[in-house]
Amino acid sequence: MPNMQKEKTVMPEQLPDVRNKNFSEVALGYSEEQALNEAQRCLNCKNAPCVTGCPVSVRIPEFLALAAKGDFVGAYDIIKSTNSLPAVCGRVCPQETQCEGKCVRGIKGEPVGIGRLERFCADRAMSMMKENCLNESGKGAPDGSDNRGSSIFANDEDRIKVAVIGSGPAGLSCAGDLSSRGYKVTVFEALHKAGGVLVYGIPEFRLPKDIVASEIKELEKKGVDIQCNMVIGKVLSIDELFDAGFKAVFVSTGAGLPRFMGIDGENSNGVYSANEFLTRVNLMKAYRSDYGTPVRAGKAVAVVGGGNVAMDAARCAKRLGAEKVYVIYRRSEAEMPARREEIHHAKEEGIDFRFLTNPVRINADEKGNCRFITCVRMELGEPDESGRRRPVAVDGSEYDIDVDTVIIAVGTVPNPLIRMTTPGLDTDRHGCIITSDGVTTTKQGVYAGGDAVTGAATVILAMGAGRQAAQKIDEYIKGLSKKTE
Ligand code: FAD
Ligand code: SF4
Repeated sequence: MPNMQKEKTVMPEQLPDVRNKNFSEVALGYSEEQALNEAQRCLNCKNAPCVTGCPVSVRIPEFLALAAKGDFVGAYDIIKSTNSLPAVCGRVCPQETQCEGKCVRGIKGEPVGIGRLERFCADRAMSMMKENCLNESGKGAPDGSDNRGSSIFANDEDRIKVAVIGSGPAGLSCAGDLSSRGYKVTVFEALHKAGGVLVYGIPEFRLPKDIVASEIKELEKKGVDIQCNMVIGKVLSIDELFDAGFKAVFVSTGAGLPRFMGIDGENSNGVYSANEFLTRVNLMKAYRSDYGTPVRAGKAVAVVGGGNVAMDAARCAKRLGAEKVYVIYRRSEAEMPARREEIHHAKEEGIDFRFLTNPVRINADEKGNCRFITCVRMELGEPDESGRRRPVAVDGSEYDIDVDTVIIAVGTVPNPLIRMTTPGLDTDRHGCIITSDGVTTTKQGVYAGGDAVTGAATVILAMGAGRQAAQKIDEYIKGLSKKTE
């Protein structure tokens, strides 16, 4: 008999007033008992509507059935067969609009906590793998190394080479799938650390970096070679990768170029793009005294925007010690694109939301330091092309908010470097790579996916594109081999 408890089993969290002063994970995860209780809420529906809501079609009822019996590792294997980053997705996927949004238990109560269970199974399996690794490493590798990055394949040189540009979720999932299909995959990453937004954007308190590192280590064990500090378009071009023997290239360079508002005062001291602010804090550990990365904490901080990026920036600013943090958003709360859970957490942590408010000017003192921000009140008019009601400024409603730091989180577009250095690769007016089927570009042998194609989207969509591209690249290379036979 399923557990007919109406609400999800509560997941323990750090208290708001404690967690808003540290960078440790907010949600603490289920205990085994809680995980069993929650998994037993699944009705094992024959038509499995939850699966239709998952962009990578995780076999949800099957994994939940095993989890309900306590076989968490078996459950993890099922998730992993279609999702290469379960511990990440269990933490950051917008389940409320995907799998859980379709769960029948949500009709008369709360849906099954699919994301929480995905996280539990992944964490359990990974900690068991770590233990096994430690036990085995006791025997010692002959050269004392941990074999990191080295290939496990004897006939390494015979394998066909494929290049992946960018090591975010799209690149990692494509690399994983191609490697499983027997290709020799090299991932080129511009930054000094692999993981894309998972390491430089999403903060430690939502996604601990050791989780991402473990997932990446798994890929390296499969033989994927990750080369950091390699900016493609500067160090090497895509055409030079082909000259170097790569048979196909997957471009998964994301959408990391920040947009600004174009208002007066945006160049003042103390004004950041959310990208720069979060990179300093997350990837370059500006919050730790043993790191030399400078970041301006600010006493009063305004974050402009309403997405996950704005929530992350606001919550980081609070943790860095800002006394007052505002989120300034030009529409109402209902239109905010951020996950509901993140908005809820931000409110609990003391972030002050100013809805229907739009900044029109940033005001600096004679030294150029930001002093206050001038805003106007907005009201919602007719729907615009995005389907959301268009915000319209209310005449004479200007007012000032005292702030010394402004963080702009109003969206990002793809960096133009790849486009500018790759003849034959077409992009649209936003700089997104054009594809005929989601991943096949206008240049032969070049495939693309993730935010570089869609513009800023989600982790799971990027991963789905990575998997789709791996399939297309495999077909393309097999086609090439047939032609040369
Ligand atoms: P990215 O993750 O951006 O990775 C691209 C990689 O390519 C980067 O590592 C970059 O350094 C590298 N690169 C760029 N140019 C080059 C080059 N020329 N040569 C070599 N390497 C290059 N999504 C969710 O689903 N849930 C969330 O909660 C969520 N929160 C977010 C919070 C923040 C702060 C941000 C910024 C995004 C968030 N997203 C969230 C969105 C999600 O992270 C992205 O949609 C996803 O990471 C896109 O994956 P990607 O692989 O396409 O690109
Ligand atoms: Fe279980 Fe909900 Fe999926 Fe039905 S829809 S199989 S109850 S998770």
